[in-house]
Amino acid sequence: MKKIIIAIDGFSSCGKSTMAKALARNVGYLYFDSGAMYRAVTLFCMRNGLITNGNIDVEALRARMNEIHITFKADPVSGNSITMLNNEDVEHDIRSLEVSKMVSQVATLDFVRSEMIEQQREMGKSKGIVMDGRDIGTTVFPNAEMKVFVTASAEVRAQRRYDELTARGDQPNYNEILENVQQRDHIDQTREISPLKKADDALLLDNSNMTREEQMNWLIEMFNKLTKEC
Ligand code: C5P
Repeated sequence: MKKIIIAIDGFSSCGKSTMAKALARNVGYLYFDSGAMYRAVTLFCMRNGLITNGNIDVEALRARMNEIHITFKADPVSGNSITMLNNEDVEHDIRSLEVSKMVSQVATLDFVRSEMIEQQREMGKSKGIVMDGRDIGTTVFPNAEMKVFVTASAEVRAQRRYDELTARGDQPNYNEILENVQQRDHIDQTREISPLKKADDALLLDNSNMTREEQMNWLIEMFNKLTKEC
């Protein structure tokens, strides 16, 4: 069967990554988390003093972009994708609320986006991938054969993020998370370059009231339909 590119875009904390990972496993494709790449750049900034009091030293970051190498490795036990920053496993650190608070600002920078987009296109060269993010179906792979745009209410998404952070041992504050979700939605939708928006040919998936199983059945049905048409 011909391999395709599956682009999954949508708002923060919609469960896109979980969904994209499970879909990739189901159809035997590789999974790439584009958000993790912007998070890794943000972590690099934080560790190297390029962010002070919420302000990014844009010129210093521009000058140091060539020091940032992001790759993905499969966890030998779970098979899950691990984000590597300059060969270090940063999968845990990039998910902190501190990184979440700054990542959308870092992701507005044109030179950061162009570098990430180039790497993302390289990952999709042989097709057979599922990639999730904000601009995958609109900018990175405008010709992707399957595009899904995921949404859910901000409250449902904040609760999911709260549960996720609690499960990993953090002690999050729900209101702070809700605020962060809403703030990221705003920055992502209003930024100048590649703003978050549904591609005209993307399928809309509102999963506020869907179980993971219902969601997967829906995705597989769409995948089967589209790959038959290819
Ligand atoms: O998907 P995740 O929430 O981990 O992404 C973190 C942030 O990275 C998003 O809030 C968004 O600002 C940015 N991002 C982006 N373009 C992508 C993926 C993520 O701007 N393709």
